[in-house]
Amino acid sequence: MLYSIAMNFRHTICFPSARLCLDVCLDVCLALCLAATLLAQSKKASPGYTDTPILPGQRWHVHDSNRPHPNPVTPGKILGEAPSDAIVLFDGHDLSRWMQNPGGKPVDARWKVVENGYFECVPRSGDLLTRDKFGDVQLHIEWSEPTDVKGTSQERGNSGVLLMDRYEIQVLDSYNDLTYADGQAGALYGQWPPLVNPIRKPGEWQAYDIVFEAPKFDGEKLVRPAFATVFFNGVLVHHRKEILGTMVHRQVARYTPHGAEEPLALQDHGNPVRYRNVWLRRLNGYDQPER
Ligand code: MG
Repeated sequence: MLYSIAMNFRHTICFPSARLCLDVCLDVCLALCLAATLLAQSKKASPGYTDTPILPGQRWHVHDSNRPHPNPVTPGKILGEAPSDAIVLFDGHDLSRWMQNPGGKPVDARWKVVENGYFECVPRSGDLLTRDKFGDVQLHIEWSEPTDVKGTSQERGNSGVLLMDRYEIQVLDSYNDLTYADGQAGALYGQWPPLVNPIRKPGEWQAYDIVFEAPKFDGEKLVRPAFATVFFNGVLVHHRKEILGTMVHRQVARYTPHGAEEPLALQDHGNPVRYRNVWLRRLNGYDQPER
């Protein structure tokens, strides 16, 4: 189209000097149009096939050329750094993405932000909750136990990562201290101990990388339980383990229906546990539209 317009315009020019100048300009324009067309065509044409078998359970051919390509994400430069599509819940400065809910009345977060980039539980102020709600997520969170070691078992540096405000990955000082196995650091509390105990000393930073699949309900009925995969300081401690239900003490956990998305919470268990570098990614599944 652009090519034909340019050629028609060229044929309407009569003056020789003007004609020469326009010829050069039009040649450049035509070359640019041609390059742009070729670039657009090369971007559309994706390698692959459409005459191969359909993959079982999918709507795509093997090597399907029409299958959407995963969107690009820039990873963090160092392990644990948020990638480009993460929601950063704490970047070292403020707790504006968090709140607390004493007596069912939402208030700004009262946990303490400390200057060198972490925040700390203010004992007996209540759990900390995100203002936003989430379903399936990949979560990165770092935590540190008090160096002033006090108490034993569940009284020693207790906190917790409460997915959907109810499914707890235990946070505890389990370094050279015993508690019941399904209550130590990294446990799906009251359900499954971690596969191993890779905890560091109190005062050192620990990291959880969690893949959480939210439960699904149909009205009051559970149609799919929640699952958690957890890396503790880079070591696998749960591999897509089924969660039995809401965290509970001295009872068998069970599910109570709730929303498809709920806040992420951090537990106030009366100990000044510290957190930093908290981010998550919503998990949206395969074959998302290309951006
Ligand atoms: Mg706890």
